[in-house]
Amino acid sequence: MRKKVVIFSAPSGSGKSTVVNHLMSKYPELELSVSATSRAPRGQEQNGKEYYFLTKEEFEAKIADNAFVEYEEVYDGVYYGTLKSETERIWKAGHIIIFDVDVKGGVNLKKIFGRKALSVFIKAPSIEVLRERLVRRGTDSEESIAKRIAKAEEELAYAPLFDRILVNDDLETCLKEAENLPIF
Ligand code: ADP
Ligand code: 5GP
Repeated sequence: MRKKVVIFSAPSGSGKSTVVNHLMSKYPELELSVSATSRAPRGQEQNGKEYYFLTKEEFEAKIADNAFVEYEEVYDGVYYGTLKSETERIWKAGHIIIFDVDVKGGVNLKKIFGRKALSVFIKAPSIEVLRERLVRRGTDSEESIAKRIAKAEEELAYAPLFDRILVNDDLETCLKEAENLPIF
């Protein structure tokens, strides 16, 4: 069995969740990698579903044990990372791993997995369209949208480091292009 991984990264609001959910419902052999984090659960988040929630001490003990494929201190004092045990679990089930991570994590994972990995950057056709989508999604405050747009401008510079770039303009077309990616 080939141990394959597919990495999706995108500025917030570009349609990454929409594309990943579509592919996961179409191809049951794909399984999303659940990251570990030292932040507290938000709202309805459950341990093992959105994240494996660890204390900072537990997370640092796992770093010392070399238990992570990659990890980052994304915010001050808050760690996020992919556990080796998670990748082994998904491969053992005979599934292909899907990573849904930020652009820096995406570039790191591509470096780590090399030819086993297909890395895909998803982007909206323009910053203006991205802003409209974030407004219409209705999940972020005005301030949070402004932050995401500023970050998106920096994140777009990483696009050429990915194997493929999907421009999410017309959704139907984008989902078809996603289905035709060389995943298998
Ligand atoms: P991300 O996971 O990258 O933050 P989402 O998948 O949540 O992005 O998409 C952001 C918003 O834009 C959602 O409300 C989604 O329904 C909408 N959306 C996604 N793709 C398109 C598209 N091609 N055209 C219009 N709206 C879209
Ligand atoms: P949130 O706290 O909003 O769920 O996520 C914060 C950030 O951490 C997001 O940008 C998300 O992509 C990133 N992140 C989540 N899991 C991982 C991971 O395993 N590795 C890295 N490097 N970043 C991650």
